Amino acid sequence: MKIILKNITKTFPSRSRRVHTPVTAVDHFSFEIPDGQLIGLLGPSGCGKSTTLNMICGLETPTEGQIFFGDQDVTSLPPENRGVGMVFQNYALYPHLTVLQNILFPLQNLKGKNKLSKQEMLNRAQEAARLVQIQELMDRKPGELSGGQQQRVAIARALVKMPHVLLLDEPLSNLDARLRLQTREEIRKIQKATKITTVFVTHDQEEAMSISDCIVVMKDGLVQQTGKPQQVYDDPCNLFVARFLGTPQINVFKGFSKDGGIYLNDQKILSAKNLPDQELYIGIRPEGFILREDGPLSCQLSGIEVMGRDISVVSTHPACENQAIRSIISAENKVDLSSSVVHFALKPGKVFLFDRATDAR
Ligand code: ADP
Repeated sequence: MKIILKNITKTFPSRSRRVHTPVTAVDHFSFEIPDGQLIGLLGPSGCGKSTTLNMICGLETPTEGQIFFGDQDVTSLPPENRGVGMVFQNYALYPHLTVLQNILFPLQNLKGKNKLSKQEMLNRAQEAARLVQIQELMDRKPGELSGGQQQRVAIARALVKMPHVLLLDEPLSNLDARLRLQTREEIRKIQKATKITTVFVTHDQEEAMSISDCIVVMKDGLVQQTGKPQQVYDDPCNLFVARFLGTPQINVFKGFSKDGGIYLNDQKILSAKNLPDQELYIGIRPEGFILREDGPLSCQLSGIEVMGRDISVVSTHPACENQAIRSIISAENKVDLSSSVVHFALKPGKVFLFDRATDAR
């Protein structure tokens, strides 16, 4: 099912008794989610991700704008008539019911032509349980399950109504690191198998990048950039997006362009033809540094950490106002630990320039 968000805006009255300015949680958001894709809605806490999801599922009504599922305008349809399955961060399972009863729950209140026989309900529950591989746990209560298993039950419960759209709100944040990784791979597998159009909300850039066909990066209710994860990583539209994607975080220094060169203070680091003279923020990805004897940046070494395949090198340079420069280089490079200086050249594709006049830091 294709989802179209047309200029949706959500304004809430202020929660504060002293400040009466309304909060614009989502600000004129337009986007088309192609049928069968998994979209990662990404951004820091408070940027409007959950409000967007709640508008798609019908828990919130947009103040402005429209939402379409396929050709149907669902903007004022109640959640139960939208054919969406929703999974929350806290799983929201009924503790006194068994896994099977939890999964069956959404089917028991179906009315009219949607009503199912007992056997049909059981078949559906078993099919959903099979998809998330919890067939052996059907008689247990949620309290007897691990976090990862509870989350799978929540997903099975969302799938049992065979929704057209699956909405996941920070579904992995209560899991430990290892389970998070495993469960996110499983979600991707289930999504691929069922081909349900899915929106996955997370503040974790790595999670969104690894699982999504397309990501939407939000800040303060505004969409900053949309695109395939790698595209957005390789071509961030502003400093916020550049900083939000990638670990370790991108290095950002003040610099400028002049006469076809890019400078950090008086240090020329790259040539750049056709660039007007201007003040810049220069973003350099950690993997954008190349160790080279004749490299233009001679940095003072302040720390090295070998991480198996890669080496993390921390250094400083007066042209970067002695800010820590974080670089990641392949362990195949031999770093001379006895030397206090490392020489770097830069990979042009890993260096991003943002106009200081228009891009707020
Ligand atoms: P996120 O999911 O990205 O953390 P939310 O969508 O929950 O962000 O919230 C976006 C903004 O809207 C925040 O400033 C939040 O405080 C505000 N907000 C969300 N729900 C309400 C509400 N019911 N009443 C008032 N403000 C709200």
